[in-house]
Amino acid sequence: MQFLLHSDVLLQSAKDPVFFQNLLKESQSKNIRLWASALQSYRIASQEEGKNVLDVSILNHTAKELRDCMKEADFDSALSVSAVRSFNFDGLIALDAKAFSATDIPVFSPEEIRDGSFESKDTSPAVPLLDLLASYPDTLEEVETEMAEVVRSGRFILGGKVEGLEKKVSEYCGVPHAVGVSSGTDALLIALMAGGVGAGDEVITTPFTFFATVGTISRLGAKPVFVDIEPDTFNIDPKKIEERITDKTRAIMPVHLYGQCADMDAIMAIAKKKKLLVIEDAAQAIGSTYKGHQSGSLGDYGCFSFFPTKNLGGFGDGGMVTVREQVLAEKLKILRMHGAEPKYYHQIVGGNFRLDALQAGVVSARMNHLDGWLEKRRANAKLYDRLFHESGLKDDVIPPREIVAGHSYNQYVVRVPKQRDELRNFLGERKISSEIYYPVPLHLQDCFKDLGHKEGDFPHSEQAAKEVLALPISQEISPLQQEFVVESIGSFFRR
Ligand SMILES: *Cc1c(COP(=O)(O)O)cnc(C)c1O
Repeated sequence: MQFLLHSDVLLQSAKDPVFFQNLLKESQSKNIRLWASALQSYRIASQEEGKNVLDVSILNHTAKELRDCMKEADFDSALSVSAVRSFNFDGLIALDAKAFSATDIPVFSPEEIRDGSFESKDTSPAVPLLDLLASYPDTLEEVETEMAEVVRSGRFILGGKVEGLEKKVSEYCGVPHAVGVSSGTDALLIALMAGGVGAGDEVITTPFTFFATVGTISRLGAKPVFVDIEPDTFNIDPKKIEERITDKTRAIMPVHLYGQCADMDAIMAIAKKKKLLVIEDAAQAIGSTYKGHQSGSLGDYGCFSFFPTKNLGGFGDGGMVTVREQVLAEKLKILRMHGAEPKYYHQIVGGNFRLDALQAGVVSARMNHLDGWLEKRRANAKLYDRLFHESGLKDDVIPPREIVAGHSYNQYVVRVPKQRDELRNFLGERKISSEIYYPVPLHLQDCFKDLGHKEGDFPHSEQAAKEVLALPISQEISPLQQEFVVESIGSFFRR
């Protein structure tokens, strides 16, 4: 939970370090994060004895919030109430809680935090799949600095912020070049375009993936050719690729689904033998490794997404293509500007696939925390593994298997062979979010009817679509929440 300290608590903390240390300790033990207004804590910290109150998370007000509060009779109280509302905090901690009786926000005294009476109404935690606000304190200063720099620079499209992120991603992945683009989808599209894939070509991929993988192939007039998945990894089965290769095949698009890399040695061997391009759909797999190498460095092109649910999510859409050869990097950059080189002269047709500077700044700031978050995801996966093992649910819930070491657990996806949808509803009633990635395999989608597939063509993909369930695994989740998830699943099956 997240609470804001009112200025009277900050003032008391400045005068009485023991009071403040106790409040900190009580809050930590109850999993509460404490916040203070930058303005209020600055006023107190500017007094000599006030330095210790800076030990909590600091938030900034917008200029508009400040101006609105200045019109109120009690500026400090108005500021606290406005911050609790706009940051969606669970409440305010104030010495004089009664002074806020006219507002609708929850206000507690330090005693009520200590004796736990603030949580009396609802003790079971809600468990969202993604809780951006929960990890916001870790990144707040860096993200806000980046955003302010972009806004004040007036440079909003491409430019230094985008180049900075490109350099960071290329170094992280160990690939010489990276080109920022408008989304993960556009990363795939532009990689296919740079690879010369077009009408009449065939591209081999899996039917058990997000729509974009196959949608981009189709949008270029090429034909998606499906190969079923391995049931253990949910990734394309390399043993079945060769039988689908024809003289029209141009590329293979493996997907590192849920953050586990596809069997790239086998795939690259086939591609080499048959002279095919390999475009990695690494949208779910930044930071995943395969035999010590980063995803995105394994094929000819690596495609990443910064959609908020991915391991490295921004505050909107964004993506990146990694590539080894400089000529290809340059081609990608021309394609993302409508194919213009120089400006207003076009030898090829591209599109607007530009990454904007604000998004690049946000992603760059958050990227400083990526490895820490991935560590946390992997630890969370281990904890789920243990909790499921101890739960005795082994016939009802089958945890994911890490066949290829280096899984980044963008998703923790269990198989639920019976009553998957009923379980999901049950969890939803307990405010536990879960998701089905993906309920309909792509060979059975209406828009791909022309490919002539029918049920039974890719049985492993079809079975997975009926059984998979993604549980909350993000870096923001607590062990307590994970225990609540597994307990709740247990009580569903033991009803
Ligand atoms: C998210 C995703 C994409 C598309 O990324 P966007 O940034 O949402 O366009 C492509 N492929 C896979 C496997 C994905 O998970």
